[in-house]
Amino acid sequence: MSSRTVIRGGLVITASDELHADVLVEDGRIAALAASGTPAAEAWTAERTIDATGKYVIPGGVDAHTHMELPFGGTFASDSFETGTRAAAWGGTTTIVDFAVQSVGHSLREGLDAWNAKADGKCAIDYAFHMIVSDVNQDTLKEMDLLVEEGVTSFKQFMAYPGVFYSDDGQILRAMQRSAENGGLIMMHAENGIAIDVLVEQALARGETDPRYHGEVRKALLEAEATHRAIKLAQVAGAPLYVVHVSAQQAVAELTRARDEGLNVFGETCPQYLFLSTDNLAEPDFEGAKYVCSTPLRPKEHQAALWRGLRTNDLQVVSTDHCPFCFVGQKELGRGDFSKIPNGLPGVENRMDLLHQAVVDGHISRRRWIEIACATPARMFGLYPKKGTIAPGADADVVIYDPHAEQIMSAETHHMNVDYSAYEGKRTTGRVETVLSRGELVITEREFTGRAGHGVYTPRSTCQYLL
Ligand SMILES: [Zn+2]
Repeated sequence: MSSRTVIRGGLVITASDELHADVLVEDGRIAALAASGTPAAEAWTAERTIDATGKYVIPGGVDAHTHMELPFGGTFASDSFETGTRAAAWGGTTTIVDFAVQSVGHSLREGLDAWNAKADGKCAIDYAFHMIVSDVNQDTLKEMDLLVEEGVTSFKQFMAYPGVFYSDDGQILRAMQRSAENGGLIMMHAENGIAIDVLVEQALARGETDPRYHGEVRKALLEAEATHRAIKLAQVAGAPLYVVHVSAQQAVAELTRARDEGLNVFGETCPQYLFLSTDNLAEPDFEGAKYVCSTPLRPKEHQAALWRGLRTNDLQVVSTDHCPFCFVGQKELGRGDFSKIPNGLPGVENRMDLLHQAVVDGHISRRRWIEIACATPARMFGLYPKKGTIAPGADADVVIYDPHAEQIMSAETHHMNVDYSAYEGKRTTGRVETVLSRGELVITEREFTGRAGHGVYTPRSTCQYLL
């Protein structure tokens, strides 16, 4: 039996168009669009009609960078796949790409199996995986080929965190050479972790233990240097490169130069770098710990370069790097030693709203909002046009968005499993009203109507920006 929903009277916004159109959903997919009020649209019948008059009808967000339940610094990110995907849905995101982790001495397969087990039957929305490669050797290189074939087509490496996730330049080059052959995409955490560890040791020896020193030792120049080095290694390997969580204007400059040379180099930034700064890291009474993440927040001056990069397409994607740790009991592990503060911020619920606020503030256009938050992440990671757009044949992952509603972000009202908000008290315009995932109502007029286990694992094809 087929089930049909029609969404009437809204402004449909995709990365390419803004249309006053009704949307017909059939059996979990977009079946058709027709101009609102026309006989073609009026003729549609459906079991369910959603009135979107005065609202936006947008594709569900694709958050290509989350870390549910990530083990880090002796603790775990506080959102499970269940709580984290529910919060994502509340915020208008209908697909996450999370990071499965290979631990040193273990296979990629073991890591992937472990993450599949964590997520299976728990998610409110669809999900996919990237693979963190912590141990490059002959076996893992072979495993990369198999993973690409089965839909895990991107691999994250770290130039930071020596002794944990760190890869040296030789390991990075080998993985890049492999990805040049198998179609995979290397995602790079670009910070010079070896140099940073020296600066950490020196800062602590001087008694500089507060959270703000986290930002001081992780220097913008060391992000730029690593970004430059990653680009050159990718160039030598003939491989594409995606740099995650770019925060420094000097790193944006490296990406801009590489793209001007015609290289397949891509960059992601995150809401925290666009809306927060070292002022937050300097908040007294250890409150700055709430904002400790890596790459770190930068002085406010860097924000203009990030916005410009998003407008000029030198940065293509905004993901959250959602990796929440509660202030009480988790961030507190680093009292008296900033290097022991678990790295990460909550944000999976806030991204679509913050980027809509950027539309209101005049930083980006409405279509660019959808492009950087839905369409491009879907294309970058091989999910388009199933995800990331509203077009016939696409999954009916649709958000009815009220562009006029006001809200105040707060830990009191958010749905992420974390005891603070990085945006506490921030007023924004625009709010998610209703969310469909493959045609099923997950949020219905600001009520959660979804369920754990509705979300399914979604294998991916390779990056769709490569020839
Ligand atoms: Zn991350």
